Amino acid sequence: MNLKVLMRSIELRLLDRKVANRCMVFAVMSLPMCFILWGLQAYALAHPEAAAFYRPGALRLAQQGLTALILWLAMVLLLTWQLRRQGRDAQWLAPWTVMPTFIVFLLLAIGHGLKDTPMGMVLIQELVVARALFSLRRLRSTLVLMVAMLAASELLIKSGQFVYAPLLTAPVFNGEDLGAWWALWLRIMFQAAVLPFTAMLFFTFNTLRRQRKELESLVRTDALTGLSNRREFMSQLEIESHRHARSGRPFCLVVCDVDHFKKVNDSWGHPAGDAVLAQLGHILRSSTRDQIDTAARLGGEEFVLLLPDTDLNGASRVASKIASSLRGHAFQADGASFHVTQSIGIAEVHGGQGERALRIADQNLYRAKHAGRDQVVATVVA
Ligand code: GH3
Ligand code: MG
Ligand code: MG
Repeated sequence: MNLKVLMRSIELRLLDRKVANRCMVFAVMSLPMCFILWGLQAYALAHPEAAAFYRPGALRLAQQGLTALILWLAMVLLLTWQLRRQGRDAQWLAPWTVMPTFIVFLLLAIGHGLKDTPMGMVLIQELVVARALFSLRRLRSTLVLMVAMLAASELLIKSGQFVYAPLLTAPVFNGEDLGAWWALWLRIMFQAAVLPFTAMLFFTFNTLRRQRKELESLVRTDALTGLSNRREFMSQLEIESHRHARSGRPFCLVVCDVDHFKKVNDSWGHPAGDAVLAQLGHILRSSTRDQIDTAARLGGEEFVLLLPDTDLNGASRVASKIASSLRGHAFQADGASFHVTQSIGIAEVHGGQGERALRIADQNLYRAKHAGRDQVVATVVA
């Protein structure tokens, strides 16, 4: 699996509509931090020289709280895995996943001292993950509880009823040498807080850039045919008009409209009509130059080609090729086949305005219609 596929699959999981699947992602993303803290605390419990930095009993309590959270998150994983297999959701699970995690992390952060340890960063990281996965409405109760706990701990510390960093015998930074234990602890915790956060930001920016590209392309594209839409065509026409004004080289506009298309819909049904439009889109794309010409759907069954550096002869050849491709295509519907034709108007632009040329190409199209359809009318716009 390459990196792009992996990122896409993570992204799809993150954007999953089911709350249960989002809870699963939250648990998966929170567990590594739990294990890192659990491992550090297990080491301290086993080594008296590290345990000496903690208040007696407090470290064991912190470890029990963390063990309970790990078991809880493991249960969330099991439950969400079951729900996923059954294709079910559980909206109620979000607060039950997020709130216990925040309570344990916040208590540990207050216990270690929020202001001079990386525990504040750990909390912020969890907060960003939670916000990326859940709506503010779902997080409201957790956020209110967190703010209340923080405010209460600050008030209690300020009023002297509670010590700063109550888990420890003295705050990590107390004006003395850090000691080997805190030097190690801080290093590990800083990396554990910063690295996933950085990875998450990279991932988020990558996703945003890809989504922006997709949206930009959607805004420029006609959904049925995959060709440019009217908005994109008009901006290309403006660009080409400016280029033409500078270079003086001719360009052509070719406007096509399916003949008696209403009858196609009426006789063979709307989906068959759509198939005709999609096929004409395919023909237009394959008959024009990639990156140079613009093929667009102006709306309904009307299409246009913008052919830079092309004179009337060149454009007429393209138009005849397109007309005969469509004429020769047998469309299938209701077990029968039918054919369609189109009328085409062409304008070669010489020193004229692009929009005026479009009007003239349109007039030529209607002259082709009045002359009996399935034909091309072309003129030069001076
Ligand atoms: P003419 O030869 O004079 O162009 O006649 P026409 O029937 O092709 O033209 P008219 O403008 O009378 O009808 C166009 C029809 O195209 C009417 C509309 O329902 C249909 N149409 C427009 N957009 C779509 C579409 O996206 N899909 C389908 N299937 N039909 C569409
Ligand atoms: Mg038509
Ligand atoms: Mg029409």
